[in-house]
Amino acid sequence: MAELTLSHVAKHFGDAAALKSVSTTVRDGEFLALLGPSGCGKSTLLRLLAGFEQPTEGRIHIGQREVANAASRLNVPPEDRNIGFVFQSYALWPHMNVRRNVGYPLEIRKLSKADRDARIDAALSATELTPYGDRMPSDLSGGQRQRVALARCLVSDPTAVLLDEPLANLDVALRASMQEVFSDFHRRTSATMVYVTHDQAEAMAMADRIAVMNQGVIVQLDTPEALYTRPRSRFVAEFIGEGAVVPLTGATHGDAGAEATLLGMRLRVETDTEHPALACLRPENLRITETGDIRARVERVTYLGGRYRLDLTAASGDALVTQSATRLQPGDQIGLALSAPWAFAAA
Ligand code: ATP
Repeated sequence: MAELTLSHVAKHFGDAAALKSVSTTVRDGEFLALLGPSGCGKSTLLRLLAGFEQPTEGRIHIGQREVANAASRLNVPPEDRNIGFVFQSYALWPHMNVRRNVGYPLEIRKLSKADRDARIDAALSATELTPYGDRMPSDLSGGQRQRVALARCLVSDPTAVLLDEPLANLDVALRASMQEVFSDFHRRTSATMVYVTHDQAEAMAMADRIAVMNQGVIVQLDTPEALYTRPRSRFVAEFIGEGAVVPLTGATHGDAGAEATLLGMRLRVETDTEHPALACLRPENLRITETGDIRARVERVTYLGGRYRLDLTAASGDALVTQSATRLQPGDQIGLALSAPWAFAAA
């Protein structure tokens, strides 16, 4: 296994830039999710790592080995990069049983039968497919087929495994159980994994770190917890988790920490920047209480199961979001107490 490094990698299709000078490192053994809206460049980044696309600018390394360099036109083909790839469609051979599908990459490489069998057994075991070796793909469920695709990429003992929305075709219940399969697989093998998704819950559930992408750049690369509690831009604050972004003025830094005016009040804020201009208020930053200084009107009530999401308008005119244990009604006036929100520079 090895780390994957992109240095100033750009990819243009004609005049359009799908990726704009991305520099980043996927650590050895890390599970990294690429998360972002449709068209932000996730698949393009993955395809560049795999070697299906060539960068317009920049260089890519797998471990110490340079595999792509736009300036020298080096481009190691996918089959020589020792990388496993799992797509959304499983691309299994319909006329081969599970064992043969899984072992096919080894047949091409002309390994001995004994070697092949040992590796196939290990890959089937890692993906919990041992009882299904003799089945044909048509006799498997969607989740089982996806596991066959994963097992097939494992037999070659790849340096890294790249996955492009592998669960997009599966129903909600199966997605959840397959997330566990991928997480278990990662724990067991310590494989470096890069996982493309536009589903933040999926990224949060599985990834060590998440690279949030927008318009061809990585806007923030952090742990799920850091992205949620310390977003560095409006885009990340609004893309990850629930909450509201409100303007903030007059920030000062004193012995007691940073203070600023937001929602018409002077408040302590948490921040790592000198000139914050926006604050991210998560539902847990806003506690409903009669004596709360912030007055707000309930606009919309949504049942979440066990609790309710409340969309609010504060007296200051700002839109807010919080949660309550009891059902309130649109039009109700409530008081809110605010705990120190996360503040960041406007972006
Ligand atoms: P999605 O979540 O919808 O799959 P994505 O984040 O994976 O999106 P990419 O597939 O990487 O996005 O595409 C990034 C941009 O590059 C898009 O604007 C897309 O239209 C464009 N693009 C991708 N591949 C090509 C291509 N072969 N030719 C021209 N434009 C392309």
